[in-house]
Amino acid sequence: MLAKTNVDLIIEHSKQLVTARGHSDAPAIGLEMEDLGRIDDGAIAVNDGKILAVERTSEVLANYSAMKTIDASGRIVTPGFIDAHTHLVFAGSRETELELKIKGAGYLEILQSGGGILRTVRDTRAASKEQLLQICKKRCMNLITHGATTVEAKSGYGLTLEDEIKSLEVVRQLSAEGPVTLVSTFLGAHAIPPEYQTRVSEYVEQVCEEWIPEIAKRKLAVFCDVFCEKGVFEIEDSRRILEAGKRLGLIPKIHADELFPLGGAELAAQVGAVSADHLLFASHSGLLQMKEAGVIAVLLPAAPLTLMLDKYADARRMIADGVPVALGSDLSPSCWLENHQLIIALACYKLRMTPAEAIMASTINAAHAIRRGHEIGSIEVGKKADILILDADDYRFLGYRFGRNVIDSVVKNGHVVVEDGRFNA
Ligand SMILES: [Zn+2]
Repeated sequence: MLAKTNVDLIIEHSKQLVTARGHSDAPAIGLEMEDLGRIDDGAIAVNDGKILAVERTSEVLANYSAMKTIDASGRIVTPGFIDAHTHLVFAGSRETELELKIKGAGYLEILQSGGGILRTVRDTRAASKEQLLQICKKRCMNLITHGATTVEAKSGYGLTLEDEIKSLEVVRQLSAEGPVTLVSTFLGAHAIPPEYQTRVSEYVEQVCEEWIPEIAKRKLAVFCDVFCEKGVFEIEDSRRILEAGKRLGLIPKIHADELFPLGGAELAAQVGAVSADHLLFASHSGLLQMKEAGVIAVLLPAAPLTLMLDKYADARRMIADGVPVALGSDLSPSCWLENHQLIIALACYKLRMTPAEAIMASTINAAHAIRRGHEIGSIEVGKKADILILDADDYRFLGYRFGRNVIDSVVKNGHVVVEDGRFNA
């Protein structure tokens, strides 16, 4: 009889082990989004931060022993959630705007009256790097205790080169400190700063000619995003910014067709963006062009909810057409959501995605939306051990039972960082 291999950690007897396997090379599309790669009575062997084996418990225990074992009987295990779209780095808050929204003020109306983004820009500029770090660290703790192990984080509340660099340095430092892995996006074109209200093309020129080269030189961002919207950065300005980023190695992402059918989906396909996000008003031909170009639709169901819109992205059509769909929070001062489980519930209730589709969109497809599909997003041999153990005995509880945190444990890079719902210092 062969000796067992000793490993760092074994998670055993999971009632339903959701692997999301088989899609490391390309995101799941269409009916593939229903296939969770489930193993009943499943187990995982973890060593050196990586997944060494994923099989039925009897098979894993026949080959491995461990110093630490987690008994997941009666519970489900999934890959760590990946939030593919956040505006993580901001100071201050905008709770007063909720009342304005209730009274009927729209997003652009609040923005034009000096509120909205511009208020957060003032607060974020006023905050020191150290203050921003402390604020965002807390936010990361909230994210991971609710199941997000990797999070995309955008700049975009600095809107001066200095403050954009400050924001992206915060992202870099937080990611290095952990526990959440952050992937950074430069969003200098988030809003037109007050100093440039009537000089949009001058601002765009500065972003393209001065800021993007500096951000790229300092290696502060992986992606370059733009808030492509009527009256903000329209199609040609957005194209210019994304192309300028691309020339210096920043992968394009785009806020597309959120409030108005401007052609953002088409632009995403034309510039070869990794994702187009929001897409409430995307045209059908734009979606088909995205599919052809391999652009992932990142849907953010909390955004229309907090904007009090009745319209949501047409996820059913996208899935039927074979457009890969991922999910994100749109965490920001106007959509302050740090619980990924609620995003899954909103995807079910508002986008009519099934729990399985919403889980795939929150794991492997979200990994692809941040170009990490080979490393994270599924429970497969060789991948990073980012794993959730949930206080539920069927995956369909995700979406169904909402509002309460059902995360029991979070394993991040092989370390148990959340246990019994509490963060381990
Ligand atoms: Zn956004």
